[in-house]
Amino acid sequence: MAYREIFWMACDSTEQLRAEYGPFLTRGEAEAEARKLGFGYLLRYEHLLGEDEEIQEVRCIFIELPETVPPAELFSFTLHTRCATCGESAAHNKNWQAEVWADIHEFEHARHRVRLFERARGQGLKEIGGWRS
Ligand SMILES: [Zn+2]
Repeated sequence: MAYREIFWMACDSTEQLRAEYGPFLTRGEAEAEARKLGFGYLLRYEHLLGEDEEIQEVRCIFIELPETVPPAELFSFTLHTRCATCGESAAHNKNWQAEVWADIHEFEHARHRVRLFERARGQGLKEIGGWRS
């Protein structure tokens, strides 16, 4: 019976002439290496092997990584504003950006009230109360 062999490469583009690094057995390893190298893509190779372990078919799929985040940013808080009245929301890196967003929103929509949340990586959202008083 035929079986599949899957491995991952980190690569810098989807062009024919690209830099590839690997192979890795898991997507996580390839992704970590891609981030270290500043590469924006993963390449997933799938080999279909026959009984004699001969490669019968090669499939490869490019996966674009979400925008590379500088390591320092991974641990900083991201601020989220969300309107309690209409549900419109936005994300910000700086406090003043959240305030400007809230000012504009509350100016444009009478009687709407914007709430502020901060998100620590992997910890979900936490509301910051009384931020506009
Ligand atoms: Zn609103």
